[in-house]
Amino acid sequence: MAEELKATIKAILGDMKAPDGGGDVVSRGMVSDIFVADGKAFFSLTVPAKDADKFEPFRKEAERYIEQLDGITKAMVALTAEKQAGEPASKPSPIPAQPKSLTAGRDAAPRATKPGIPNVDKIVAVASGKGGVGKSTTAVNLALGFRDLGLKVGILDADIYGPSIPRLLDLKDKKPQSAGGRLLKPLEAYGIKVMSIGLLVAEETAMVWRGPMVVSALNQMMREVEWGHLDLLVVDMPPGTGDAQLTMAQQVPLAGAVIVSTPQDLSLIDARRGITMFQKVDVPILGIVENMSYFIAPDTGARYDIFGHGGAEAEAAKREVPFLGAMPLDMHIRVRSDEGVPIVQAEPDGPHAEIYRDMASRALAGLEMGETSSVSPSIVFE
Ligand code: ADP
Repeated sequence: MAEELKATIKAILGDMKAPDGGGDVVSRGMVSDIFVADGKAFFSLTVPAKDADKFEPFRKEAERYIEQLDGITKAMVALTAEKQAGEPASKPSPIPAQPKSLTAGRDAAPRATKPGIPNVDKIVAVASGKGGVGKSTTAVNLALGFRDLGLKVGILDADIYGPSIPRLLDLKDKKPQSAGGRLLKPLEAYGIKVMSIGLLVAEETAMVWRGPMVVSALNQMMREVEWGHLDLLVVDMPPGTGDAQLTMAQQVPLAGAVIVSTPQDLSLIDARRGITMFQKVDVPILGIVENMSYFIAPDTGARYDIFGHGGAEAEAAKREVPFLGAMPLDMHIRVRSDEGVPIVQAEPDGPHAEIYRDMASRALAGLEMGETSSVSPSIVFE
């Protein structure tokens, strides 16, 4: 059913006249993998930044056509710019036009050793090789980006060394309530379901746990929380690649992992370890995010590559994993986090929210491809 709908959507897009006068968007490789779940269709259209305005009516029209299909109630089409205006350096890796595997997706059987969570379609880890690179900030904003793309999203804060999600989502003083029996009700913020190890145990307790203890706590948080139906559960992992992280990567039924790094060499060395760790246990890398990538001076608009921008993108290319995008170092991001309203929620029309949504759509494209971490070759016309 989903496969048929995807094919029909592709056919519709193929028949539509591209507003830039080029050929159809499908054969030009501009359409990402198409994600169909619960009557919602989602995909992104990669267009040259200079033509983004021209494509806006096209995007809306595509949504309207697709929403008329039987079996689709909502279509979400995101425009992804090839290059951000005024931001020359960083080009996220193209979303492959042809899915490598259509069978590995939502319907794929869970691995025998890692039973899935009932009602939760996919679990995605957000990880980093070391602390302080903005992993939690990225995790909450990506979760909100997924929400904006029409998915039902939960976030699980498993960072035993410094659970910060409750603070980032203004839930610090809240306590999860019992849902009867062993079940807990998750908290909710900005339309996403939230659970954090910080809400359940004192920080000092969890910090000394070894891998198996972390996994057992995590399993409890995943399975004994009344999540309701989720398309995606984002797990904010503890930073690093030690015993606790490895056990988690091994035992949690992850559909993929996003690695957050700054462009600094040291951070990249750690990110590399993170990639290796997930690949070793067969978890697909959905992509690398370069956080604190560069800084634009608010007064002059001058750009500073404080940590030497572009390292994560180069690393992604070298390791043949997707590059999800570059997030600048910006005071707004930190201030909004401190206020408990992440930037995607606080400034949904701002440039950062747009980058986070782009990253989310690229990560989703990777998920649709299923059990592989390598980018299939694709030709991108600009
Ligand atoms: P981690 O989870 O990797 O330890 P956090 O997400 O807690 O990192 O971020 C560490 C600090 O950096 C926080 O104060 C956060 O607000 C800030 N921060 C993260 N990303 C950015 C960014 N792109 N621009 C500015 N500040 C950021």
